[in-house]
Amino acid sequence: MSPAAPTQLDPSTRAGVLAEALPYIRRFWGKVVVVKHGGNAIAPREPSQGDTVEPALASFAQDVVLMSSVGMRPVVVHGGGPQIGDLMARLGKEPEFRGGLRVTDADTLDIARMVLVGKVNRDIVGAINVHGPLAVGLSGEDAGLITASAHPDELGFVGEVKAVNPTILERLLAQDLIPVVATIGSDATGQAYNINADTAAGAVAEVLGATKLVYLTNVEGLRRQVDDPSSLVHATTGDELEAMLADGTLSDGMIPKAAACVRAVRSGVGQAHILDGRLPHALLLEIYTREGVGTLVSP
Ligand code: ADP
Ligand code: MG
Repeated sequence: MSPAAPTQLDPSTRAGVLAEALPYIRRFWGKVVVVKHGGNAIAPREPSQGDTVEPALASFAQDVVLMSSVGMRPVVVHGGGPQIGDLMARLGKEPEFRGGLRVTDADTLDIARMVLVGKVNRDIVGAINVHGPLAVGLSGEDAGLITASAHPDELGFVGEVKAVNPTILERLLAQDLIPVVATIGSDATGQAYNINADTAAGAVAEVLGATKLVYLTNVEGLRRQVDDPSSLVHATTGDELEAMLADGTLSDGMIPKAAACVRAVRSGVGQAHILDGRLPHALLLEIYTREGVGTLVSP
């Protein structure tokens, strides 16, 4: 990746930005941060000549590597809804959704698993490893990471998280590696299930006792009115968020994120964030500068 074009900032401002990061670097040294990367978060930008990694993905990878380089322990959990939809369309299969969840028959499960584990996971791992041998891709099926059971709404092979066994993640983090998790889980018989990545990220953050849980999505944060960008909620609490879930402020893909944030901050995760993953370096801005971007959820 070519370095960013020189900014218009004068040297003292640039030095100021670096100095501003210092207290955050010290505070978050050794701390686990779970970052959920939505399939929608990476709005494809026009790649310029010579780019091998899609630019938005390259910017995300750079942020994760920087976090790891200054002592944080990032864990990436990803979805891939749009990418699953693309392959289904190419194969002539009609997607069906119920309550925001994909109805998953055996063929759809195969497609979801191939796309998430074989494509999206590889793309993220590849983008990070441009910077060195850092990322290790995993499915929730690996080393008993995510145990699943069938979702009660009879959606086929859509699973709920029954348990997260963090052992494999802890081993990787102890070696300064960056785990990248595709959210397929399996039950005791080895049956695979497609699991909502928002929910899975929250469960992983809880079990790891993460300091932060960060959702990168395709909207600048949580809005008080879904269609009004000026209604961005800058900061909220678990209780407020629970009320918003009850009163219909949230719909579609924001529901599992908000529900996971509420659960996480009540289970010991320090803070949860909902950010616009399309904003270049959203992660760095949120974690290492005074003014956050997006929505901050505190207990
Ligand atoms: P991801 O791939 O990141 O999971 P989703 O499409 O599943 O993305 O979820 C984000 C979407 O949730 C937004 O693009 C928006 O359409 C929708 N949404 C529903 N309610 C809200 C709300 N109150 N504030 C912001 N976004 C909302
Ligand atoms: Mg979603």
